[in-house]
Amino acid sequence: IVKSGLEFSSPTVILTNGTFLNGKIYIGKTTYSAGRAGELASIGLAENLKELGFKVGRLNTCTPPRIDRRTVDFPKMKEQKSADIPLSFSFENKGKIYKDFSVFMTRTNQKTHQIIQDNIHRVPLSNGTIQSAAIRYCPSVEDKIIRFPEKESHQIFLEPEGYNTEEIYLQGFFTSLPADAQQEALHTIVGLENCKIIRYGYAIEYDIIYPNQLKYSLETKAIKGLFLAGQVNGTSGYEEAAEQGLLAGINAVQLTRGKELLILDRSEAYIAVEIDDLVTKSVTEPYRLRTGLAEYRLLLRQDNADLRLTPYGYKMGLVSEQRYKKLLKKKTLVEKEKERLKEVIIHATQKVNELLNKLGTTPLSEVVTLATLLTRPEVTYNQTASIDPNRPELPAEATEQVEIQIKYAGYIKRQEIQVKRFKKLENYRIPKDIDYFNMHGISHEGKERFSEVQPISLGQAKRIPGITPSDIAALMINIEKIK
Ligand SMILES: Cc1cc2nc3c(=O)[nH]c(=O)nc-3n(C[C@H](O)[C@H](O)[C@H](O)COP(=O)(O)OP(=O)(O)OC[C@H]3O[C@@H](n4cnc5c(N)ncnc54)[C@H](O)[C@@H]3O)c2cc1C
Repeated sequence: IVKSGLEFSSPTVILTNGTFLNGKIYIGKTTYSAGRAGELASIGLAENLKELGFKVGRLNTCTPPRIDRRTVDFPKMKEQKSADIPLSFSFENKGKIYKDFSVFMTRTNQKTHQIIQDNIHRVPLSNGTIQSAAIRYCPSVEDKIIRFPEKESHQIFLEPEGYNTEEIYLQGFFTSLPADAQQEALHTIVGLENCKIIRYGYAIEYDIIYPNQLKYSLETKAIKGLFLAGQVNGTSGYEEAAEQGLLAGINAVQLTRGKELLILDRSEAYIAVEIDDLVTKSVTEPYRLRTGLAEYRLLLRQDNADLRLTPYGYKMGLVSEQRYKKLLKKKTLVEKEKERLKEVIIHATQKVNELLNKLGTTPLSEVVTLATLLTRPEVTYNQTASIDPNRPELPAEATEQVEIQIKYAGYIKRQEIQVKRFKKLENYRIPKDIDYFNMHGISHEGKERFSEVQPISLGQAKRIPGITPSDIAALMINIEKIK
């Protein structure tokens, strides 16, 4: 039901309210209700979700001031140009898909820090008045100065906001200082002495729905057909929100069609790492997805994202037949070339050893296969073309895979063995709707945690915070009895 009274109905609904649920903005001691600067907060929905019994938390995050490009002294700063070879999220994008844009770098200094220190008492989120948790991996400049007093300066990156605007985003200067202190602090920084603020930085405090109330599909456990995705689940960040949106969207459609839901595991994708963390551990502060959170990160590489996930996209009807066939062709080329390289014999000839000398690696004293030679860090696939006359012409994306898969085969294999062990526990399924309080041998805390999360597998049960090995052993005995 929207404000005007209109009612909409749908078998599935995805809520992606971001920071809008009961959002409250802070600029120094000035506070007001808003979802984002200049936009209304969502109050009715926040109350409605509480009435429905959802457990609601409160977090906060901060944004930097936007300044006018025409008032910045760029020659005083360090320029960072766009990457020559840009990376795209999609394997379908080739080359540059955007115009070059430089970013400029400057730093805070002791004067800046002094002004911030002098005004901290005017910042409710830093002086202890407000208790909601802030984002650890993207702290405000006030927090950086409090937490790292030994640092004499902090980096600031000046990032253009877009092609058609004069606004510059000050990455690294997230703040909810009062407006006058923001201006004063910025004017102490090299290159920003005369900068004009177009929009002041602010902090925003908002409601989240604790994500352990969700299933892996991102559907709420309490209400069938209701999905939640994005910052409303306690995450922060564009990618974190986008991947949840994608998964919730896929699963909402699959549910409506009565088809199999898309649930990935931690060894398959970062999306799965994030969702598993959210639904199993919930959050106490804004969640950011970092490579360090993925235990199988050697397998979750950017270069093999297409090999890992395109088949799922195809299965869900999101990837065309043509694109899928292209992937299969690439896969075949890679496998064939890897096999061929295992058969290519390299003799310790003068030509070979001259090349190896040039590459800074030990000459050969005996015969090896080219695959073995490629495991040396100094030797690359392209550099060995001259000693491999029968090499087929392959696209760069295939040779990149050949090289990575051969060079790191040992590490990859080790990780694959770990994944096998992991999958065993993931595949040990726990029946639905178990009454944990009727089970014997599990601690009271264990029963509470299992009931709250309702793990779907033994693997997930083990990852719930506070669960002990004896809880798991007792759980297994109880499940075996039920089975
Ligand atoms: C100030 C600030 C700065 C940030 N800076 C960065 C950054 O530099 N890098 C980064 O990775 N992440 C950053 N983030 C985080 C990132 O922007 C968010 O985590 C991400 O955009 C969240 O996406 P979302 O789709 O969940 O929500 P949002 O992007 O917030 O979108 C929510 C949408 O829902 C709409 N909405 C809300 N309630 C209702 C309602 N009741 N009815 C209808 N529509 C409604 C809103 O209008 C809005 O369009 C920042 C966040 C904030 C708040």
